[in-house]
Amino acid sequence: MTEQDVSPQSDFIREIIDNDLKARKHDAVATRFPPEPNGYLHIGHAKSVCLNFGIAAQYKGTCNLRMDDTDPAGESLEFVESIQNDIRWLGFDWQGRLFFASDYFEALYQFAVTLIRRGKAYVCDLNADEIRAYRGTLTEPGKNSPYRDRSVEENLDLFARMRAGEFEDGSRVVRAKIDMASPNVTMRDPVIYRIKRSGHYRIGDKWVIYPMYDFAHCLSDSIEKITHSICTLEFENNRPLYDWFVNELIEGPKPRQIEFARLNITYTVLSKRRLIELVEGRLVSGWDDPRMPTVAGMRRRGYTPRAIREFCSRIGVAKKDNLVDIALLEHCVREDLNETAPRAMAVLKPLKIIIDNYPEGQVEEMECPNHPQKPEMGTRSVPFSRVLYIENDDFMENPPKKYKRLGPGREVRLRNSYVIRFVSLVRDEATGEVSELHCTYDPETKNAPPSDGRKVEGVIHWVSAAHAIPATVRLYDRLFRVPDPAGAEGEFTSLLNPGSLETATAYVEPGLAAARPESRFQFERIGYFCVEMRDSLPERPVFNRIVSLRDSWAKMAPGTAGKQGVRS
Ligand code: ATP
Ligand code: MG
Repeated sequence: MTEQDVSPQSDFIREIIDNDLKARKHDAVATRFPPEPNGYLHIGHAKSVCLNFGIAAQYKGTCNLRMDDTDPAGESLEFVESIQNDIRWLGFDWQGRLFFASDYFEALYQFAVTLIRRGKAYVCDLNADEIRAYRGTLTEPGKNSPYRDRSVEENLDLFARMRAGEFEDGSRVVRAKIDMASPNVTMRDPVIYRIKRSGHYRIGDKWVIYPMYDFAHCLSDSIEKITHSICTLEFENNRPLYDWFVNELIEGPKPRQIEFARLNITYTVLSKRRLIELVEGRLVSGWDDPRMPTVAGMRRRGYTPRAIREFCSRIGVAKKDNLVDIALLEHCVREDLNETAPRAMAVLKPLKIIIDNYPEGQVEEMECPNHPQKPEMGTRSVPFSRVLYIENDDFMENPPKKYKRLGPGREVRLRNSYVIRFVSLVRDEATGEVSELHCTYDPETKNAPPSDGRKVEGVIHWVSAAHAIPATVRLYDRLFRVPDPAGAEGEFTSLLNPGSLETATAYVEPGLAAARPESRFQFERIGYFCVEMRDSLPERPVFNRIVSLRDSWAKMAPGTAGKQGVRS
């Protein structure tokens, strides 16, 4: 990690940690990031990664990576691997502390046995519907299960036989014996073990009983000696239960659960269930589709880890749910790329121009700076010749006065080369559209202003028609048409943006044929592009548009873009 990433931040979680350290509750801070390996990480997870690993770095503590794999449905090794790749790519390191909740199954079983021995848990034969009916409601207390007073011996025997596979799936569960009248429904004898024969991606059929999240999570935290267990707000009601298990079963220092608000972002969805639906319904090309809010998708699109970390730091941690404008994320990406991305020239909608007074067959190598403000980024040479392509939009036959580009009677500078003057145009006979322009160049103006002091209209980009290489550009836009697709009425998939991917052919300067996959460029005056990591070939490069140049965040919040993070 860079210095900047561990620079001290402050928020309510860090205040809690500061106080705990002052009170000498712990010697060192230990956090963990506990994904369930049933999908790829998304930007919401990235926020949690930055928070947990960031706190560990700031307090010179540790952060474990724990696969929370207690529910075999949907879990797989592919996800375990993608999670590790994504965290590493984001710039964080668990320093060898990779753990699996499934490795704690024996210990968790023994914890449940301890509860049973102490009369604090029992085997219950009610089925799921009955358990629900007995649980009561927010306004009515629940009723005790008829199996609540089984003897310790009977409970131990039944639990051992559950483990041994003697009973059908769903026929019995183990429940903690807490309080069926508790105002907190979570405390009404919660289920801690269930029977489920589905095979685990990692440990196969070794177990037919699986611990429930509330039981497994706090005890996994305890086994790993986590000090601060940071999770999202929906677990606030579960905190008393977290503390109950820990107080019943753990001696010495206990982990403490702290909740913060989940990240939500406009124009996308961040629930795994919905992301799985997009992938399985083939509404996107996969988890790493560049339109997906996944870390893998953002990486493939061309977002940088630094921009994502910066975004997570700017939004901060809150105690209330909010919806963050995706324009802020895009702004962070632009801000980083503006500093780091070398410039290049590419023409998206070509218009051919012929420079009548430029010698036929002559080729000049134009030396172009890779970054206008950063000479240390060096230069590259780009071939210039008699026939060029410019952007179709950079010529107008009847331009308005303010138009800063080429038109009849006008002169413009070609970026990093000469000033050219319009002479005449040729039309396509069939369509009547302008098909090519004839111009002249002023040989005195190579990277120098006209000597007579005359003014040119503007600067436009170009490529040499004979040297440019055709490239596929994938013009990505937001995945959804509406700001809050998850909160809208009806099927969220009906709100997908049909224009979220358009493909076009661009003509790019020839040096880009050698660009490495994943390298990023600013195509001058167009936007930021990244060499597609899977599909790009040297003979046919493919570029993903990362973001356009227009910054709607900076425009909406002039002067405050750096400070104000969140809009709800
Ligand atoms: P989902 O609820 O979308 O199915 P999840 O949140 O349960 O997914 P996990 O794999 O359990 O997914 O999440 C791992 C960690 O990431 C948890 O600590 C969770 O709190 C955190 N996390 C998940 N989504 C977000 C989010 N949108 N914002 C912040 N943290 C998140
Ligand atoms: Mg979860």
